[in-house]
Amino acid sequence: MSNATQTKLHRLTDELNRLIGKENVLYSLEERICYAYDGSKQKCIPDVVLRPQDTQQVSGILCLANEYKIPVYPRGAGSGLTGGSVPIQSGMVLDFSRMNQILEIIPENLTATVEPGVVTHTLQSEVAKHKLFYPPDPASAAFSTLGGNVAECSGGITGLKYGVTRDYILSLEVVLADGSIIHTGRKTLKSVTGYDLTRLFVGSEGTLGVFTQITVKLLPLPEKIETLLAFFTTPEQAVRTANQIILNNLLPRALEFIDKSSIDCIQGYKQEFQIPKDVHAILLIDIDGKETSVNIETSLIERIITENQALKVVSAKNAKERDILWEVRRAISPALYTIAAFKINEDICVPRSQILEILQRIDEIHKRYPSLKVANFGHIGDGNIHVNVLYKEKDQQVTAKRMIEEILLNTIELGGTISGEHGIGNVKSDFMPLEIPPHELRIMKDIKQLLDPNGILNPGKMFPL
Ligand SMILES: Cc1cc2nc3c(=O)[nH]c(=O)nc-3n(C[C@H](O)[C@H](O)[C@H](O)COP(=O)(O)OP(=O)(O)OC[C@H]3O[C@@H](n4cnc5c(N)ncnc54)[C@H](O)[C@@H]3O)c2cc1C
Repeated sequence: MSNATQTKLHRLTDELNRLIGKENVLYSLEERICYAYDGSKQKCIPDVVLRPQDTQQVSGILCLANEYKIPVYPRGAGSGLTGGSVPIQSGMVLDFSRMNQILEIIPENLTATVEPGVVTHTLQSEVAKHKLFYPPDPASAAFSTLGGNVAECSGGITGLKYGVTRDYILSLEVVLADGSIIHTGRKTLKSVTGYDLTRLFVGSEGTLGVFTQITVKLLPLPEKIETLLAFFTTPEQAVRTANQIILNNLLPRALEFIDKSSIDCIQGYKQEFQIPKDVHAILLIDIDGKETSVNIETSLIERIITENQALKVVSAKNAKERDILWEVRRAISPALYTIAAFKINEDICVPRSQILEILQRIDEIHKRYPSLKVANFGHIGDGNIHVNVLYKEKDQQVTAKRMIEEILLNTIELGGTISGEHGIGNVKSDFMPLEIPPHELRIMKDIKQLLDPNGILNPGKMFPL
């Protein structure tokens, strides 16, 4: 525990116990260690973990933290990949697992309102009972939370057709750093009154305010989903196929790319998922909508795949087979650890027309770093490629970061961005100036200063300390 914060927290213990109940104020080392990590694998133990149960409690906590200038780290499921919820300056972790209620689903309005600790898949399943659809679908949907998704503006496999989290957030209840509570936007499908504060908070990574209620837009649940798996001997064939699908006015629900290194890692993962020899690239494609249009679009896409000399194309025969194909896709990220013990997972995004170019440039760059391994997979449909740089020894990290910087510079040169969906956190904050010029960074820092003058909300994230 840091000395200065320890003294402050001693003074606050009684007040925190009174505010949220002693059982929700966690001081033991064993409990605090559980909140030291996220998916970025950093480790920083917080001084205390607080589990608020409602907005007033969050407001009370932030009032105290602001008065005593104690860092506050909001946390959903801790699945972030850029250190967003890691308490790098110790202080308080705000755990939202006790604010996990779906407050309302209103089918005639096509909206739902939830607390931030609701797991994304839970919301998807609950609205599906009303034949409704919450489209944002990060590969972590089974465990990540709506609060984390909103803070990161998470994307996922449905981004090409349906957009990302930002496109579904209508209104937010936000507790600001001083404990005041604001409501951005309206629960209406349209609202242009004043500046769009909702958009400002979406993707703010817990640095501008803490979400306590989230109202999302819903769509009718698609009648049918068809899944195709296409095997290619070269990545060029796969990228060309993806482009031709779009150029033929077809918009699949998901259009995912898997390269040779990633294929090697998932080979044999599932008995049902057999990959023919000589395959160097895979496309995994979901087509959804009304049954008749899905059938027509699926045959058109199959024709495009065949015209591009695919070795083989298979379709999932039922929901179980479809689940297996997607389970294998979701397994890629952890499976990459079979290549090397250390991994840096980038999530660059380029205009779709530049996908082949960036893949070729990554290959060229890789030739200058022969001791590192590279695996690329991801949401090729929206230009978002997960570039994974892998290395065996810890001291290769500096070299890996040099290689990544080259990849990021090339991404920006091609009109792309250094993060399509994982956010900046502290892992990528040093790279922010590569993409954002000084005067724009100044505006962002001024906004932060206005909303959080004492810098208590997620300090050390987004901007370097
Ligand atoms: C296997 C795996 C697959 C993944 N796939 C994808 C993917 O396909 N697409 C994608 O975009 N991401 C993906 N991710 C990354 C991650 O799951 C997302 O960033 C997710 O949105 C994080 O949610 P969380 O609940 O775990 O949030 P956390 O990791 O706990 O926190 C993330 C950020 O949100 C902030 N935060 C959390 N709750 C609140 C709140 N109530 N108010 C304000 N700020 C808050 C935190 O401070 C932090 O900055 C993946 C991660 C893993 C491990």
